[in-house]
Amino acid sequence: MAKIKIRRINCGSCGAPVEIKSAYTKSMVCPYCDTTNMIEDQGVDPKGKMAKLSDAVGIFSIGRTGTLNKRKFEVLGRLRYGYDEGFWDEWFLQFDDGQSGWVTEEEGECSIFTKELVTKPIENVDNIRVGQMVDVEDKRVFITEITDCKILGGEGELHYQVSPGKELVHYEGNAGGKLVSIELWPKELEVHKGEPVSYSQIKMDKEDDPYA
Ligand SMILES: [Zn+2]
Repeated sequence: MAKIKIRRINCGSCGAPVEIKSAYTKSMVCPYCDTTNMIEDQGVDPKGKMAKLSDAVGIFSIGRTGTLNKRKFEVLGRLRYGYDEGFWDEWFLQFDDGQSGWVTEEEGECSIFTKELVTKPIENVDNIRVGQMVDVEDKRVFITEITDCKILGGEGELHYQVSPGKELVHYEGNAGGKLVSIELWPKELEVHKGEPVSYSQIKMDKEDDPYA
């Protein structure tokens, strides 16, 4: 089992000591002053305040622990994506085997996404259209949705270098029945592979469940 090494940093704005638990974390929203800190090799770089997010209505919240298919996880972060008609939240889960993933909860359905290594360019990525097949590594992805969005807020640890108001294009598609999401940021391209999970596969630990 991979060892989880906790990094300790000080918020670049208020100086509060903050622990970083995931090796994948690239930015962190200070729990004391809401400043987004970019985590760099040389230290932290504060980049403005994230909007406070209202309490989640679903089963996840920062610091909660549980299991997904019997794998233990802790919820370390949340990002809220806004688009024309509304918003959605993604939760950053750190598994205690060292892996991480993002869970989306939309209209009572959950999906878990894990990062895919991208080593080849995606052809003509700025001109992708819905209904098109796109080659992503060794997969042919059928694009089903394209959404222009921007970051409305976040909390905790995030594995992107995300600053408030940052804009991106979010592509959704499928490859052989697997969900694929592509996020095109101004300076980053992220590909995630996903699958639906049912609530019966997720068990939240009872001791920190205020409703239990
Ligand atoms: Zn702070």
